[in-house]
Amino acid sequence: MNKIFDNKQEFTELYRDAVMSISGKSVEAASDLDRFNALAKLVAEKARTVATKSDARATAEGKKRVYYFSIEFLIGRLLDNYLLNFGVRDMVAEALDDMGFDLSVIENQEPDPALGNGGLGRLAACFLDSMAAEGIAGYGNGMRYRYGLFKQEIVNGSQVEATDEWLTHGYPWEVRRQDKAVTIKFGGHVEGFEENGRTFYRTVDTQDILAVPYDIPVVGYAGETVNKLRVWAAEPVEEHFDLEAFNRGDYALADAERAEAEAISAILYPNDAGEHGRLLRLKQEYLFVSAGIYSLLDTFEKEHGANWELLPQFVAIHTNDTHPAMCGPELMRILIDEKKLEWDDAWNIVTQVVSYTNHTILPEALEKWPIGTFSKLLPRVYQIIDEISRRWHESFDTTQEGWQERLRQTAILWDGEIRMANLSVICSHSVNGVAKIHSDIIKNIVLKDFYALTPEKFNNKTNGISHRRFFAEANPTYAKLVTEAIGDGWLKDAFELEKLKEFQNDTEFLKAVGASKRANKERLAAYVKAETGLVIDPNTVFDVQVKRFHAYKRQLMNIMKVMDIYNRRIADPNFHVTPTTFIFSGKAASSYTFAKETIRLINSVADVINNDPRVNEVMKVCFIPNFRVSNAQLIYPAAEISEQISTAGKEASGTSNMKLMMNGAITLGTLDGANIEIADLAGRENEAIFGLTAPEVEQLWASNSYFAWDTLNGDRERLGRVMDELKDNTFAGLSGNFESIYNELMNNNDPDLVMADFRSYVDAWEKLTGSYGDQETWNRKALLNTASSGWFSSDRTIREYRDEIWHA
Ligand SMILES: *Cc1c(COP(=O)(O)O)cnc(C)c1O
Repeated sequence: MNKIFDNKQEFTELYRDAVMSISGKSVEAASDLDRFNALAKLVAEKARTVATKSDARATAEGKKRVYYFSIEFLIGRLLDNYLLNFGVRDMVAEALDDMGFDLSVIENQEPDPALGNGGLGRLAACFLDSMAAEGIAGYGNGMRYRYGLFKQEIVNGSQVEATDEWLTHGYPWEVRRQDKAVTIKFGGHVEGFEENGRTFYRTVDTQDILAVPYDIPVVGYAGETVNKLRVWAAEPVEEHFDLEAFNRGDYALADAERAEAEAISAILYPNDAGEHGRLLRLKQEYLFVSAGIYSLLDTFEKEHGANWELLPQFVAIHTNDTHPAMCGPELMRILIDEKKLEWDDAWNIVTQVVSYTNHTILPEALEKWPIGTFSKLLPRVYQIIDEISRRWHESFDTTQEGWQERLRQTAILWDGEIRMANLSVICSHSVNGVAKIHSDIIKNIVLKDFYALTPEKFNNKTNGISHRRFFAEANPTYAKLVTEAIGDGWLKDAFELEKLKEFQNDTEFLKAVGASKRANKERLAAYVKAETGLVIDPNTVFDVQVKRFHAYKRQLMNIMKVMDIYNRRIADPNFHVTPTTFIFSGKAASSYTFAKETIRLINSVADVINNDPRVNEVMKVCFIPNFRVSNAQLIYPAAEISEQISTAGKEASGTSNMKLMMNGAITLGTLDGANIEIADLAGRENEAIFGLTAPEVEQLWASNSYFAWDTLNGDRERLGRVMDELKDNTFAGLSGNFESIYNELMNNNDPDLVMADFRSYVDAWEKLTGSYGDQETWNRKALLNTASSGWFSSDRTIREYRDEIWHA
């Protein structure tokens, strides 16, 4: 363990100086925010010192460097994580306590940067943590959005979006690296020129933007390796302040150029609705790809000279989904136009360096760009893509039967559009899915023609989570219990959690597991009270579904279950309901009407149920606003039921299912994504699995044998009642009825099979909650879930990427 402070006294002296230097005040006179900023600055400085050493070691040892390109990094707060990883968390907490301060109060001052939407961005952040923990020279490359994902407020039950001003009070972890800024060229036109008898190309009359990097340290567990996350901000290349306009009083015009440049990195786009095709988004994608590649080539050249053929030996570029799909073409462009390589040599390098992770099989989520827009914004990159495409066509063996269909499926340019997934596959040496079932679907359905051509490219890397952040840090009571039982080796090697199985028949230990859950439920109840005013009862079951709102995730089915239980209890006061708090949290993309209506429905049902004394003793509905990493860390540890109820075949992996499992929640879920692996590892008897399977869903659609109306008519009494209540004013009190949800299901034939799975879902819930009375058995299941969850540490995932994809 590389501790950054030797003892309390040393820390205290350094800390007092740090507070004085940033605020000009004594630690006692300073504000909580000053106290946070000083502590973060102190830790960040130590981290950067270690980072310099890590970097020098990577050079000395000739380590391969891995660059993880992702348009999102949902990093969450860093202070607590870095104190833990440097092994000084308890000592710092004690030292602050001696001075009269509470570490957790100071930690709550930290902004929670929302530089990601959800699962994909959080995965990227977990991977940074694990790369550093595993001693890999691995770097994040992304965007520094001035405003992160919107802040969600709930007004009359509806989501209202507000700007997320995470930079208002500064961000002590980042360092601006003006010296490493890169000029990015947009627009213009391509011209050829002769040099030594060869034709080269360059783009002229471009509009240039400056990409300025900000570096954030990434501290690995044990503090031996500190890597960095580099995020890029867009700025004007030169200051063209129009003094004349300013003197005329035209202030906006005076600074128009700066505003236009900065717009590129102003906001993070929502990932799941109707935002495709936005020019600004394309500019973002090119900016962080181009800047990132120039920056890594610069590092490579300093270490290895201009020996570009060595690039595959020393550099891996990983593309997280298709947003960085231009990595292949952009690297080609630089190698050919600027480093003067021949096409074949450059292609050979690119396809050994680049690898790609697919994250979704929803057809509407596959990224495509209109050729017209793209070629105008990036004319030379487009030419390269066109040439990659031409050679791809040429490589087809036209004597083989069915080659036309295969070409159609694998083409990069089709129907006036560039298909970014196909481009990614063709430029990469490895293509992976994120859970077993997802990788199988990629091979057999979505990318089956590529699989037939190059099966060796395809592999699975089941996602993982940072068990240090989402267990050790988020759940200190349980973590302490675990460490007392099996030692603290699990912090490094999560497989050691397996040792907890020895305690499965230890009544006292199981009681302690239950007591820790209880403490976490109280902690969450206090947070909910403070945030919303709602009082929830820690004696009830905490049933939790927290994630982005999306039709396929079926929050709708969950609230329909709540409506059904409510109806039956009202109809028959003797109907047994295990007292439950139904907890929801998550954001909906601002243009995604169905998802936003589902949020309004949940809040409207909550408004009725929470104010109905006939059911109050046994049910409450709780919507926690503004789901993000910091409150996720309070919610997961308090959960007893983990709702993972997506339509089978649609959730690529999921990661909250893993976080909840690790924290001892029982999965109530479909056989989708990583739920399948969860049930395999913990044993089916320790989860509650229900519903149609992926093959059954496929069969149902393929055979045209599902009719939503038939399902509705087959269950008029309960399902029919719930559907009627979307229109009959039962829940309209807050802000009206829900016809649009009703119509989506009935007129679109229930595309996510909400009605098809409804009864098996409610049955499974009743059976599961019916067993809650036997606390010892429940706690045993919780323990066995935790004990089986080590495999889901992202350390394991990253070791697989390292050994099987990056060879680092
Ligand atoms: C883990 C996590 C997610 C992903 O949740 P899924 O249920 O897997 O979609 C989303 N948002 C936050 C803040 C997370 O921590």
